[in-house]
Amino acid sequence: MEALLSKTFQNLSKNSMANKMAKKYGLRFGAKRFVAGSNLEQAIESVRELNNNGMLAMLNYLGEFTNSETSASETTEDLVGTIKAIRNEQLDCYLSIKLSSIGLEIGKDVCLDNLKKILDEAEATGTFVRLEMENYSNCQKTLDIYKEMKTKYENIGTVIQAYLYRSAKDISDLNNYNANLRLVKGAYNESAEVAYPKKSDVDENFESIITTHLLNGNYAGVATHDDAAIKHTIRVAKQNNISKDSFEFQMLHGIRPDLQKQLRDEGYKIRVYLPFGSDWFGYFMRRLAERPENLAFVVKNTFKKGAV
Ligand SMILES: Cc1cc2nc3c(=O)[nH]c(=O)nc-3n(C[C@H](O)[C@H](O)[C@H](O)COP(=O)(O)OP(=O)(O)OC[C@H]3O[C@@H](n4cnc5c(N)ncnc54)[C@H](O)[C@@H]3O)c2cc1C
Repeated sequence: MEALLSKTFQNLSKNSMANKMAKKYGLRFGAKRFVAGSNLEQAIESVRELNNNGMLAMLNYLGEFTNSETSASETTEDLVGTIKAIRNEQLDCYLSIKLSSIGLEIGKDVCLDNLKKILDEAEATGTFVRLEMENYSNCQKTLDIYKEMKTKYENIGTVIQAYLYRSAKDISDLNNYNANLRLVKGAYNESAEVAYPKKSDVDENFESIITTHLLNGNYAGVATHDDAAIKHTIRVAKQNNISKDSFEFQMLHGIRPDLQKQLRDEGYKIRVYLPFGSDWFGYFMRRLAERPENLAFVVKNTFKKGAV
């Protein structure tokens, strides 16, 4: 049953009619728990609230369905506008972007042109930009672009997914770039040819790459809600005198808020991922696919007075 629900949500996340309807009607069905807002103003308010509560933020503009140069260029303008807003409001926040939303699927040149516009603005305003890691077919392309840009821009990082067999090698390669990396388990459905099929192997490799990256002396954004991985990170840091400034924990908006506060109270840096934008439906469905138990929350909200 759980697998069936998960598959259904994954399919819905890619359904263009469902996405169109969602865009028309705004944040509904309990999506507010996971999405920071359907526009920049709402997202900025969420960032301010986090900062006022002693937490850092990163904004992710939800525009993953870009398949034309025009929409890639529009998304780029929105991202540049987001960087300006972060700086104008003097927020402790950076930008997390999917290269596919600025033209990676169209062609490397289109993507690089757009990315440079974003990085120029980021550099001028001292804002960090993280290139997210998407499905395996985009992995090498993303790493190549990251490495090329890292020689020209300082404020740039990317993501390594522990479910990929190649991740340990990538961590070692990226050590040559003193890479600021977000480390995750991995969110896409990948084949056993490229990724560990067993969760226990992914968990083990996740801890292993966290250790290697921290011991290499590079900044780590440990992005997880998993108690065991968080305890492991804290243990490695303590045993090796790695300061609390050398890493941060990252979690998704709306997931384990109590743990977020607990880590903040213990003096760890905690950064919350705030997705926003009118294309919220796909992201919302992927969060449900990841954990169909969240459906109970959604059903409760759907039948609340005023919810559609
Ligand atoms: C800040 C951030 C950025 C990310 N960026 C990327 C990226 O660029 N590329 C990529 O492939 N993946 C990314 N991910 C997703 C990541 O790869 C995992 O799919 C996701 O974080 C779930 O794995 P976990 O580490 O939390 O551990 P899990 O073992 O999946 O979960 C551990 C515990 O966390 C809680 N939990 C996890 N997910 C949920 C949920 N949806 N709802 C409620 N509780 C939940 C549960 O208590 C669960 O038992 C990102 C994750 C975070 C937090």
